[in-house]
Amino acid sequence: MTRQRIAVIGAGLAGLACARRLQDAGQAVTVFEQQPVPGGRCASHASPAGVFDHGANGFGAVGATFCAQVRAWAEQGWVGADPQTPERWVTTGPMQSLPERLAQGCTLALPVDVAAVEREQAHWRLRTHNPLPLGLDPCFDAVVVTLPAERAVTLLAADPALAAAAREVKSEPCWTAMVAWPGPLPLRTARLDPAALAAAGGVLSAAWRDDDRPARAPVSGVGARWVLQASPYWSANNLDARPADVARRLLDAFATALSAKLARPVYSATHLWRHAWTGAPRAEPYGWNDELHLGVCGDAWHALDGAEGVERAWLSGSALAEAVLAQG
Ligand SMILES: Cc1cc2nc3c(=O)[nH]c(=O)nc-3n(C[C@H](O)[C@H](O)[C@H](O)COP(=O)(O)OP(=O)(O)OC[C@H]3O[C@@H](n4cnc5c(N)ncnc54)[C@H](O)[C@@H]3O)c2cc1C
Repeated sequence: MTRQRIAVIGAGLAGLACARRLQDAGQAVTVFEQQPVPGGRCASHASPAGVFDHGANGFGAVGATFCAQVRAWAEQGWVGADPQTPERWVTTGPMQSLPERLAQGCTLALPVDVAAVEREQAHWRLRTHNPLPLGLDPCFDAVVVTLPAERAVTLLAADPALAAAAREVKSEPCWTAMVAWPGPLPLRTARLDPAALAAAGGVLSAAWRDDDRPARAPVSGVGARWVLQASPYWSANNLDARPADVARRLLDAFATALSAKLARPVYSATHLWRHAWTGAPRAEPYGWNDELHLGVCGDAWHALDGAEGVERAWLSGSALAEAVLAQG
């Protein structure tokens, strides 16, 4: 394949998997990311109370291809078996350290919010909401869109079939609260068990201790740090709630689950993931228009029995890169 200028939009796991493979094959790849750091939903939140992993906080690996990839990351010291659940994997630094490591050596344009992908004669031009870094040409031979499916739709407007496929995916929202207390909590486990979650009346779908994860330095004045994850149902019904109210409701639910009166937190923050995950990814590994050289990948694609979002994102991005390279 002759050297092509390829834009990858989104620096989550799918975008980085795709970009690295294309770049290793000699293509001229630029990754556009709207946030100031790569990672997408593999995110970490730095705070005065320490770091919280408030998106994915670990992942499973079921397919042979991804298992081999994860073993390679483990040999490099990037990930290790989850001490709480050994069949799962966690990063050896904050969750965001994985995408940051994957992004090393890639050409990143960030923060750049891509508004549209427009066809202009034989190439693509990216329109952006904010200025491009000085000297960066917005014209490309091929474009790969890796946003959560519902958000990818507008960038796929040039190919109605790809846009329609992305539009069919339905993802669920997730409010998360990141909370630190001055002392330890009356709880021996590092996660809330299903019975405790049920006691919280459907408000929480998960809650885990964040300060005993790998590479977490103790923070003076902080005795416990937890991430509280609201259920998709509760999140969907509270999309427009004020962050302070969300924090209060999730904390109340957590206290109910523990049957305990909790001390006043020394830190709390919330984050709304509008498109946290999808329970019904598409069966195709990716979407690719061979004539237009426009593609889409991400965790909404590449359905695989038992695979979670991180695995699907990686597989989908890698598979699309192979398709781009195969076009000749
Ligand atoms: C709370 C939570 C818990 C989770 N837990 C797990 C778990 O336990 N196991 C697991 O495997 N998965 C989990 N996931 C899901 C997992 O994080 C995702 O499936 C995976 O990270 C998706 O990667 P991606 O590259 O497909 O998408 P993303 O990570 O969403 O990447 C898309 C990127 O595109 C960028 N972008 C968006 N719009 C634009 C634009 N207009 N211009 C430029 N860039 C743009 C975004 O900022 C983002 O960086 C969890 C997710 C959440 C939110």
